[in-house]
Amino acid sequence: MTDIAANLARIQARIAEATARANRPAGSVTLVAVSKTNPAEAVAAALAAGQMVFGENRVQEAAGKFPPLRPAWPALRLHIIGGLQTNKARDAVRIADVIESLDRPKLATALAEAMAKEGRAPEMLVQVNTGEEPQKAGVPRAEAEGFLRACREEWGLPVRGLMCIPPAEEDPRPHFHYLAELAGRHALPVLSMGMSADFEAAIACGATHVRVGSAIFGARG
Ligand SMILES: *Cc1c(COP(=O)(O)O)cnc(C)c1O
Repeated sequence: MTDIAANLARIQARIAEATARANRPAGSVTLVAVSKTNPAEAVAAALAAGQMVFGENRVQEAAGKFPPLRPAWPALRLHIIGGLQTNKARDAVRIADVIESLDRPKLATALAEAMAKEGRAPEMLVQVNTGEEPQKAGVPRAEAEGFLRACREEWGLPVRGLMCIPPAEEDPRPHFHYLAELAGRHALPVLSMGMSADFEAAIACGATHVRVGSAIFGARG
């Protein structure tokens, strides 16, 4: 059994050190604990240890785990971080506080409709495919600016920031710098980047949210 509380404390300490090293204010980086594939008991253990912000990549799985926890944990925040199908947009809007994987016009339309129907407006992050990987979700670099503008002007979506997943085999820092620069140009305050292997580098590059899974919950089966 993984010691989730000890792992959380260790990651929070490393986040605090990386934040200080970057001369950034204490508390300016939020840990999103990525609980995908882990059972509700693992989430409960993290909540008991004081972790309130979680990331899930599948809407169906998140819909089973999180709504039952909300009454006991009103401060809980759920981020949907995985590629989102348009037919899952309504469920995502219903259960999420933040949707990090907005990446195409069809999904923007579906989310805008779902928000109107549900009377709920989760924060949105635009995912950018910074490595231009064909198999990966995210808007291509060249289309990012136009898509950001359209999200605000055409669909009225509450876009608050950007998210990326750099290619696994590359130095992630040029990708983090690119995303930070793009966010700065658009006055977007939220930058979700960095995972178990590279969250300290992401903090040095300006991440406001790091998404850490296996370093908290153990290797996924
Ligand atoms: C799984 C996942 C993570 C966490 O990855 P770890 O390497 O386990 O920390 C972060 N972001 C996204 C989008 C993921 O799907």
